Amino acid sequence: MAPKGKIEIDEELCKECGLCITVCRTDNIAFSSRLNSSGFHPASFKDNGKCTGCTLCAVMCPDGAIEVFRA
Ligand code: SF4
Ligand code: SF4
Repeated sequence: MAPKGKIEIDEELCKECGLCITVCRTDNIAFSSRLNSSGFHPASFKDNGKCTGCTLCAVMCPDGAIEVFRA
């Protein structure tokens, strides 16, 4: 069984670049309809139950906004 994971995204650090969305193989991140205080739509974790904790999203994020947790 693949390891399960979850992520937390600091919405205030997100610059809406979309890199995390591009690299996530489980389609688990999408832009929020909310705006952060800098005027960006931050990335948001969908929590669809398929996150493997692979850390690719966190590695790719240029702003260090993503933390990964393994279950
Ligand atoms: S840790 Fe991997 S599977 Fe989970 S959200 Fe990030 S890129 Fe997607
Ligand atoms: S990679 Fe980081 S800055 Fe870019 S959309 Fe994802 S959380 Fe936001």
